[in-house]
Amino acid sequence: AIPVITLDGPGGVGKGTLSRLLARDLGWHLLDSGAIYRALALAAQRAGLHADEEAALSDLARALPLSFRGDADETHVLLAGDSVDAEIRAPEISALTSQIAAIPMVRAALLQRQRDFRRAPGLVADGRDMGTVVFPDAPLKVFLTASVEERGKRRLNQLMEQGISANLATVVAEIAERDARDQQRSVAPLRPAPGARLLDTSGQSVSDTYRVLQGWVQS
Ligand code: C5P
Repeated sequence: AIPVITLDGPGGVGKGTLSRLLARDLGWHLLDSGAIYRALALAAQRAGLHADEEAALSDLARALPLSFRGDADETHVLLAGDSVDAEIRAPEISALTSQIAAIPMVRAALLQRQRDFRRAPGLVADGRDMGTVVFPDAPLKVFLTASVEERGKRRLNQLMEQGISANLATVVAEIAERDARDQQRSVAPLRPAPGARLLDTSGQSVSDTYRVLQGWVQS
């Protein structure tokens, strides 16, 4: 089977950065599953759909004209051919995304699309349920954690780099609300997969954490 490394964990924990580094160094493909859910939320917002219109949202998920361009170093998310990298990171889209992601029919509609990223020579998959649902047979599963304050700071920095202004208290509150929703939903709740290796990144630099990951990959 084509190897997969799953990186799951809550918002702002650094999964995106670490997944990209790993995919680049291994020369493997990268799946940013959060970007798929985010693009769906953006498409829903544009279509005027609300989070309770479950059947319409799952139809939209199935037909979503989504593509990725670039490689692990620089990936662009395209909706109907247009780059939506900044739009899908906006705070109101983050909130809508986690509401839509709680709908079982929506998750089912997106399952195969995610599994299709598994191509030779290998895949690094970043998300919430990569190890539990999408790639349960992955040989290496990692679950990242960090305090909510620290994740809030990291997310704030990311937003500022993208030219989006926000304040720390608001970002922390949004992350905490999203975590709670992701942990409490009935399908694919956020939690470590059986056999996942846990990595607490609080107080750790990206390179500290990356070194630990590399050790696991090589063993
Ligand atoms: O990882 P990211 O912050 O981009 O994910 C945005 C939201 O998408 C999460 O809060 C979660 O609700 C949802 N998501 C999910 N399953 C995944 C990836 C993301 O439910 N595999």
